[in-house]
Amino acid sequence: MHKVGIIGWRGMVGSVLMERMQEEGDFNKIKSYLFSGGLKGEKAPDYTNCHETILNSDNLEELMDMDILISCQGGDYTKKIHPQLRAQNWQGIWIDAASALRMDEKAIIVLDPVNKNQIEQGLNRGVKDFVGGNCTVSLMLMGLGGLFKEGLVEWMTSMTYQAASGAGARNMIELLEQMQFFSQKYSSQLTANAATTALEYEKLMTGSFNDSQFPKEQFGHPLALSLLPWIDVKMENGQSKEEWKAQNEANKILGTNKTIPIDGTCVRVAALRCHSQAFTIKLKKSVDIKTIESLIAEANPWVELVPNERDITCQKLTPAYTTGTMKIPVGRVRKMTLGDDYLNAFSIGDQLLWGAAEPLRRTLQMVL
Ligand code: NAP
Repeated sequence: MHKVGIIGWRGMVGSVLMERMQEEGDFNKIKSYLFSGGLKGEKAPDYTNCHETILNSDNLEELMDMDILISCQGGDYTKKIHPQLRAQNWQGIWIDAASALRMDEKAIIVLDPVNKNQIEQGLNRGVKDFVGGNCTVSLMLMGLGGLFKEGLVEWMTSMTYQAASGAGARNMIELLEQMQFFSQKYSSQLTANAATTALEYEKLMTGSFNDSQFPKEQFGHPLALSLLPWIDVKMENGQSKEEWKAQNEANKILGTNKTIPIDGTCVRVAALRCHSQAFTIKLKKSVDIKTIESLIAEANPWVELVPNERDITCQKLTPAYTTGTMKIPVGRVRKMTLGDDYLNAFSIGDQLLWGAAEPLRRTLQMVL
């Protein structure tokens, strides 16, 4: 049995990964070792074939004893540990959730429903570093993979509506604390007239934004009852890094010879763990909508094409419907008034599953 070390298993992405590995019986196929900074030396949780003690995630010797390492620990850890392992000629496979190595030419960004061939060919020629893609990029390619495969996309924009969980567990909790802060105010007795009451509430709630007790240490700003149209650091060209990733990572995953331009505005919204995206897609040629729908729906088993009708859209093309599932609903598929070769679409995905943990889990299976 291969020895597989898992680092970052108790973090948010790591917990989802462990849950999925259990659901799929993956622990039966490996001898697993859990590594941690905070819990080293303690008794490991009871997973099948799991080494009984938690190992030290900074101990190079113990890490190098593994055939495969999966890290959900974060970019700083990767930047610190990965070069040291390779410098000491560790020949194992490194599978990572962090972005640190994504654009490294020796690494493959993994999303096997889209680039299985690239991963298989990489494994055959001895590639050893495999990195999960940015959550919105992976979710976009899961939803629209059929159009890219058919070579139909000339360029596109992706306007994202990203959940709090993408910023980490503490941010997710802070969003809930902000909501709780509002709910305390909501219990106030106000006038009976609906319009007046609504406006009074609005004043009470938005007045809270400037309350010194309002919890905003993580986001720095209110997210509940608001939104934040900036994610990650600024790039020289004025994009945020999250926006920069769309074109760069998507083209790397697709293995394009000629770059497909992709750009948009990435926005944090008060959803918990599902990212949504609105797309304007410039097609290379006009294609009838039925063909487009089939290409989208048949790209992989997880896409759920939602008819462009109001009721079903509000039911199924939502974070509420998608959260905690592997589904990738895609809807609002229609030609735009801009021209017959302009397509509108909207998609959702659980950013902790297909957006983070699942591509890593599936890469482990391919490696095994
Ligand atoms: P996280 O929840 O902050 O966990 C990271 C580490 O924090 C844990 O592995 C653990 O390491 C340590 N930790 C300390 N106290 C803890 C506690 N009370 N409970 C749990 N863990 C604790 O990190 P994450 O959000 O999963 O992100 C990990 C990596 O995945 C990052 O590189 C991130 O960019 C990437 N990623 C994240 C998302 C996302 O949605 N968050 C999506 C895609 C990719 P020790 O056991 O070693 O102490």
